[in-house]
Amino acid sequence: MRTPYPNYQNPCGWNALLPPAPVRSSLSGNTSCDLIVVGGGYTGLAAARRWHELEPTHQISILEGSRTGEGNPGRNSGFLLEVSLANDANTAEIDRMQKCNALVSKTMSELSALVRRHKIDCNLQRSGTYRAAAGEAGLQAIRSYVAFLKAANLPYEILGQDALHSKIGTDFYQEGLYSPDCYLVQPAAFIRGLANALPESISVYEETPALKVSRSGNAWLVTTPTGSITAQSVIIANNAFAKSLGFGRSRVTAIYTYAGLTDPLPSDLLAHLGTERSWGLLPAHRLGSTLRRTVDNRFLIRSCYDYEVETDNRAMEIVLKEALQRRFPFLKNTRLANVWSGATGLTFNGAPNWGEIENGLYISAGCNGGGVVKGTLFGAALVDLAHDRETADIENLFGTASWMPPDPIRKLGFKLISSMERRRGIAEI
Ligand SMILES: Cc1cc2nc3c(=O)[nH]c(=O)nc-3n(C[C@H](O)[C@H](O)[C@H](O)COP(=O)(O)OP(=O)(O)OC[C@H]3O[C@@H](n4cnc5c(N)ncnc54)[C@H](O)[C@@H]3O)c2cc1C
Repeated sequence: MRTPYPNYQNPCGWNALLPPAPVRSSLSGNTSCDLIVVGGGYTGLAAARRWHELEPTHQISILEGSRTGEGNPGRNSGFLLEVSLANDANTAEIDRMQKCNALVSKTMSELSALVRRHKIDCNLQRSGTYRAAAGEAGLQAIRSYVAFLKAANLPYEILGQDALHSKIGTDFYQEGLYSPDCYLVQPAAFIRGLANALPESISVYEETPALKVSRSGNAWLVTTPTGSITAQSVIIANNAFAKSLGFGRSRVTAIYTYAGLTDPLPSDLLAHLGTERSWGLLPAHRLGSTLRRTVDNRFLIRSCYDYEVETDNRAMEIVLKEALQRRFPFLKNTRLANVWSGATGLTFNGAPNWGEIENGLYISAGCNGGGVVKGTLFGAALVDLAHDRETADIENLFGTASWMPPDPIRKLGFKLISSMERRRGIAEI
């Protein structure tokens, strides 16, 4: 069912592995503060942290529609890329891409420093990432990614089918590569830790969806189901759901994708696996499946996309299980202990919807499926923009989200492109 804020069918599998977190209060009654951030994800938290650095006496309120760890930021696959995504990679614009990579890599170092400083227990490891292809479309994508890595002077290692088999225990893929520029993390533990590490003057209100953002005199008023809050400044950082508040309707669309996690595998099954103990694999083709073997020997598989509405998660469980078994036939009796979905904010050209909307009102939305590190970068840079400070040139480097036609044309366009891509990349699913 379509909702104006996240209301998922199933709990987040990563969050279910953690001890229950103390409940943070919801917003109730009418109140005020200096800055309101809508959305307690990576973008929203980074914006709040940066605002606090610049204005340490300000009271900041983060309104989070879900619970921290349970919501969208805890639902991802946990790849923290230090370089551009494959879809972004563009050999023709290597100078711009290198500037983007440098910003993303610096942001990743800052996140990793936060994890160390606050002793956040989230299995953060610089494991690198595999990318692999099973069919022709995937192989083509690998070749163009290699061209990008070469041009950008980034390290990588090409791996044939046998090498992949000996490292990760599957001969599903014909060819792949390994790139060291990626961390892996337990995402629910990560977002919980980042929220717990916020300074005291930043309050996170959980289960507090913003329903409306409007002008109130010379301030902004945000209305929630149980109260309202005013501030001089508001940052819209709720990604796929920004348009439900009336922002970026013609630029960002919610796309759901699905993940499943097994229990820890028993030792007889582990014996079939390769030499790498904990690893992550991204699909070469954008419609392919993501895989992970976690530090505690679970398997994660992520696959499939839906336009604006979540498909029945029980049907997705079958699809995910089959995709895992195609890669690891010896897992035929292994169940997915948790299956869940998450919404990503998709823009037509992959660029963020970022900048000032009106005086005191700012937005950073449209993660395009890879926004943990980039969202952190964009959230902090937005605050610099709000303070007229020199900052990364987000619009020129990462682009500006382009216009999309409204539904039903948009939906038809998505269905058409994804079914064509699916046909091309069927071997990768
Ligand atoms: C299954 C899956 C796998 C993924 N894998 C990866 C990956 O490996 N690496 C990667 O970089 N990215 C991945 N992504 C994408 C990643 O999750 C996002 O890019 C990232 O979370 C974006 O951060 P954000 O803070 O911009 O937005 P979000 O994480 O979407 O956070 C927005 C927050 O706003 C809240 N919210 C929404 N509406 C309202 C409202 N009206 N009022 C108040 N709060 C509201 C939400 O609950 C959420 O907490 C994946 C996504 C999914 C679904």
